[in-house]
Amino acid sequence: MQKQALVCGAGGFIGGHLVKWLKAEGFWVRGVDLKHNEFSKSAADDFVIGDLRDQEVVQKVLDRPFDEVYQLAADMGGAGYIFTGEHDADVMHNSATINLNVAYYGQKAGIKKIFYSSSACIYPEYNQIDPHDPKCSEDSAYPAAPDSEYGWEKLFSERMYMSFHRNYGLDVRIARFHNIFGPEGAWIGGREKAPAAICRKVAEAKDGGEIEIWGDGKQTRSFLYIDECLDGIRRLMDAKSFRGPVNIGSDEMVTINGLAEMAMEIAGKKLSIKHIEGPLGVRGRNSDNRLINKELGWAPSWPLRKGIEFTYHWIQEQLQKT
Ligand code: NAD
Repeated sequence: MQKQALVCGAGGFIGGHLVKWLKAEGFWVRGVDLKHNEFSKSAADDFVIGDLRDQEVVQKVLDRPFDEVYQLAADMGGAGYIFTGEHDADVMHNSATINLNVAYYGQKAGIKKIFYSSSACIYPEYNQIDPHDPKCSEDSAYPAAPDSEYGWEKLFSERMYMSFHRNYGLDVRIARFHNIFGPEGAWIGGREKAPAAICRKVAEAKDGGEIEIWGDGKQTRSFLYIDECLDGIRRLMDAKSFRGPVNIGSDEMVTINGLAEMAMEIAGKKLSIKHIEGPLGVRGRNSDNRLINKELGWAPSWPLRKGIEFTYHWIQEQLQKT
């Protein structure tokens, strides 16, 4: 029989790509989101516009014992959304309500397996002070000290899903994503993350001009291209008994200045960087891939530059359309 999947947050960046991927794998797919995807028509067999904070909506979309449920819906964005403090109450309330509803009604509906997308933002700030040596191994999550309410909510929801596993036998799989990027992600409007924001700024600038970067640009991060992320998710879902939480990210660490230089090279432009004040997050972060390598035999196969090239050209196209 054809397998059935539900993707919560299917109108978003990762959800949109995941739906396409599940369709290509032969699944019947229902997507649910507050909105349609801005960049392409959903490949889902059934797309429900609905608010997952609403218990009636959640019961309606979970009307069968799905083989796989992917819970990606969250009130989120890049540093400009998460770290200003202005959205803290919404981020916590909206995302926690979604997760409480999906875990409870998912278990009641008898779903066979559920994937939950947690984040690198759960890792303690005290381990990410040195930009050259951040510590993000899975077992370093506690004593907990995330640097944002977004991270605290993710940690709470990880624990909530694991409780449903322990008490009700829900087959839960949890990944901690580290900065996933690629085409069809937010690139303008305040929710975009560093790779998209930098590609946009470089694409907009005239050769010889200037772009603005938040902070001194010496903060470090790693970024994972969307296709590689989907591969990691698949392996985690197919694992026999390993359920995580596990990092899904790249361990190719780069400074934000380095990322900007990379985008300039791809664009063939020489630009100067003006460092301005802005919301930043931790000083350094990198994915520790030892656990995923050991348990799932997974490691990213693309260099960062290849993914940035694809993303830069896609953003350039979007700009030409405006
Ligand atoms: P996204 O913002 O593009 O997608 C999230 C989707 O959830 C959006 O389409 C949004 O409309 C939907 N949503 C929000 N509130 C909803 C509600 N009440 N009811 C129904 N839908 C609702 O984000 P994304 O980058 O695709 O991320 C997907 C998941 O992965 C999120 O949970 C995010 O926290 C997590 N994550 C992403 C990254 C990353 O780098 N992209 C990193 C760490 C974790």
